[in-house]
Amino acid sequence: MNTSTTGIAFDPIFLKHNQAGHPENAKRLEFIISGLKENGLLSEVKRIESRQAEIDEIAICHTKEYVEYVKEYCEKEGGYFDPDTYAIKYSYFAAATAVGSSIDLTKSVIIGTLNNGFALLRPPGHHALANRSMGFCLFGNIAIAAKIASTQTGISKVAIVDFDVHHGNGTQALIGDDPNILFISTHQYPFYPGTGSIRETGTGAAEGKIVNIPLQAGVGDKGFKVVYEKVVIPSLEIFKPDIILVSAGYDAHWDDPLANLNLSLTGYNWISRELIKSSEKICSGKIIFFLEGGYNLKVLSSGVANTIRGLLGIESFEDPLGKPNDEEPTIEKVINELIKIHRL
Ligand SMILES: [Zn+2]
Repeated sequence: MNTSTTGIAFDPIFLKHNQAGHPENAKRLEFIISGLKENGLLSEVKRIESRQAEIDEIAICHTKEYVEYVKEYCEKEGGYFDPDTYAIKYSYFAAATAVGSSIDLTKSVIIGTLNNGFALLRPPGHHALANRSMGFCLFGNIAIAAKIASTQTGISKVAIVDFDVHHGNGTQALIGDDPNILFISTHQYPFYPGTGSIRETGTGAAEGKIVNIPLQAGVGDKGFKVVYEKVVIPSLEIFKPDIILVSAGYDAHWDDPLANLNLSLTGYNWISRELIKSSEKICSGKIIFFLEGGYNLKVLSSGVANTIRGLLGIESFEDPLGKPNDEEPTIEKVINELIKIHRL
């Protein structure tokens, strides 16, 4: 098998989990896939075989009662688990397949049959808690993949970087006090879901293994460059993970309808490539992106395409929406505080 390959996880079941009019609907992934077809990228990547995760695999991070409850709820035609999160009869299959594909893609990159990858999945996962759904998320795809990677594959240290505009509260909760998993999150703050303060740094053996980077509305490409150069990349270099997993949400874009950070597609492209470069330096290029949020369809399809170009080593990228003209607020204070708290 060709070893210099970018893998993707995708299954048509991810499009069956759908609620018209809800921001987290199937059109998001349809747009991404049709964009990748149009620009010729889909034929450049290798799609892995997908499968549903077993209940016991999902229960690595969730209670068995919750997993069974989701399954039964969907079998009874579903409804709303909470004010944000819907489920229909296909949702359990979609969510379990998202977990199964996340695990298998991660294992393939760890053993080296794939170089790197992008899990193009729905429903997203970074808000899901051990015993309940939250924020459009049913199961913690990336947290489960990280736990399995660090305990069942011969490697130990996993870093998760979350650049979705919302704090990855679910991931932070599901990884628990695990000193082998570093979690770094940039997010608009204060904002949904309310967590992610600079003072949440991990407890017990994992003290310092959570790096929350709360950003006020309006921070864009310039601020993110400083955040990555002074906090994200140095944290990765100190921790030296064996693999980097990325919660890739494209809702920090200036034209996203749900939030107010001001990244452009050019800024997103820079971030993805910094993370890829960093993985090459630290862990032989082992990096996998997992789709989280992003609710402007054009941004989502161009943003994912640019990240996949980065994974394939293609230099060009697209930014049809350009940059906003707004002045960015200064973030010096939060950067200095982070450097102090995390001894960077
Ligand atoms: Zn989000």
